[in-house]
Amino acid sequence: MMQNSPVASERPLVVVGAGHGGANLVALLRQNGFAGEIVMIGDEEHTPYHRPPLSKKFMDDSLQQHLRPLEFYRENAIDLRLGSVVSSIDPAGRTVTTSAGERIAYAYLVLATGSRPRSLTIPGADSESVLSLRTLGDAGHLRRAIEGGGRLVIVGGGYIGLEVAAHARTHGVEVTILEREARVLARVASPGFSEFLTGRHRAQGTDIRTAVDVVEFVEKSGSVVAVDLAGGERIECDSVLVGAGAVANDVIAREAGINCHDGILVDDHGRTNLPEIYAIGDVTCRPLGDGFLRFESIPSALEQAKNVAAHIVGSPAPRPEVPWFWSDQFDLKLKIAGHVHRGIRAVWRGSGADGKVGIFHLDATDRVIAAETANAPALFMAAKKFITSGAVLDPQRLAITGCDLRDCVVQG
Ligand code: FAD
Repeated sequence: MMQNSPVASERPLVVVGAGHGGANLVALLRQNGFAGEIVMIGDEEHTPYHRPPLSKKFMDDSLQQHLRPLEFYRENAIDLRLGSVVSSIDPAGRTVTTSAGERIAYAYLVLATGSRPRSLTIPGADSESVLSLRTLGDAGHLRRAIEGGGRLVIVGGGYIGLEVAAHARTHGVEVTILEREARVLARVASPGFSEFLTGRHRAQGTDIRTAVDVVEFVEKSGSVVAVDLAGGERIECDSVLVGAGAVANDVIAREAGINCHDGILVDDHGRTNLPEIYAIGDVTCRPLGDGFLRFESIPSALEQAKNVAAHIVGSPAPRPEVPWFWSDQFDLKLKIAGHVHRGIRAVWRGSGADGKVGIFHLDATDRVIAAETANAPALFMAAKKFITSGAVLDPQRLAITGCDLRDCVVQG
């Protein structure tokens, strides 16, 4: 039975956050026949834009890529209010208030406030010359900081750090990555994939140093000139980027009594614990597998937007999708699906020596539950299908590159 129908309410549907999640949600609502008023409030000054190029093309002039042209919002009667911060939510009165003091009533509220870079709490970390990367403005700062070449230190060997390193290297910048864990991508990738990528970056001249603790950013005349490590070593540099993960922008939600735990807790429909309040994208901690996870990727934000749009207009819920994301580094097109850390056996298809590889992660019954691929779109598509169908594979055959993938399926 349909739970909601397109509302022709006096009150609008209000979306807080005009990023990937919010901008796609409003488009999907109109596509799904939502006829009510829509207000989307974003604190940035720009029309919603693509974030992935910020770490992969920050030196290019074509960096700013709008998700949709400005006319789209006008033509679809979406009241896009940019440069406006929502500072509080009143769930009882069903209103939000902006920092300028404007109160806006809502019939439905969708929180799509994303996340922000985690900052370090060490001396010098609050210096303006210690950069982070989330917005178009941040990418501009990064570009200007390294435009003249010099030495860039990146604190944190996550996907964003590695992407920035790759792009900076192609522009002749000297790059050092400082990673606290024993390997890059420790939180999100398998040891084998980390090693594969580390090798590719080192071959391009990036100095990757793992198991190091940054204790201070040393400033001189307003600029960071060095990074101090525990143990006394000092690394001289011309610019510093911190890429140490992101934290959910969930403060207004928590203050309004919405259940949060490392992000806003939502169900499969994007519903929070409070009526008529949904959340999507990086700000959410969503059900995935047998737990809850903050899965910061565009496909995940889009999937949630589809679910919320369907739920609000009363359409059937879309089919669940396999969580996935991509990354580009040098000539590598990386695509990763599923929960890598839940696998107990990793089977390599290809050695990676030619830049092409697929690592399949199998559970105890040899079902594929995740895959990490580089320059191997067909392997990635096959892996996603296997994850969805719960196919059981023969690991020995799977490891033989010449063996047709269909002949590796034992069951399913
Ligand atoms: P966002 O797109 O961040 O949008 C949230 C918006 O809400 C922001 O504009 C924020 O400023 C605004 N906001 C926050 N609080 C308020 C408030 N109180 N009032 C008003 N507005 C507010 N994912 C991939 O899958 N592949 C990639 O290659 C990839 N590359 C990336 C590269 C970079 C540099 C970054 C930063 C992210 C990348 N991601 C990538 C992740 C992807 O961009 C995010 O998963 C996606 O943007 C999430 O969408 P969102 O709507 O939840 O958040």
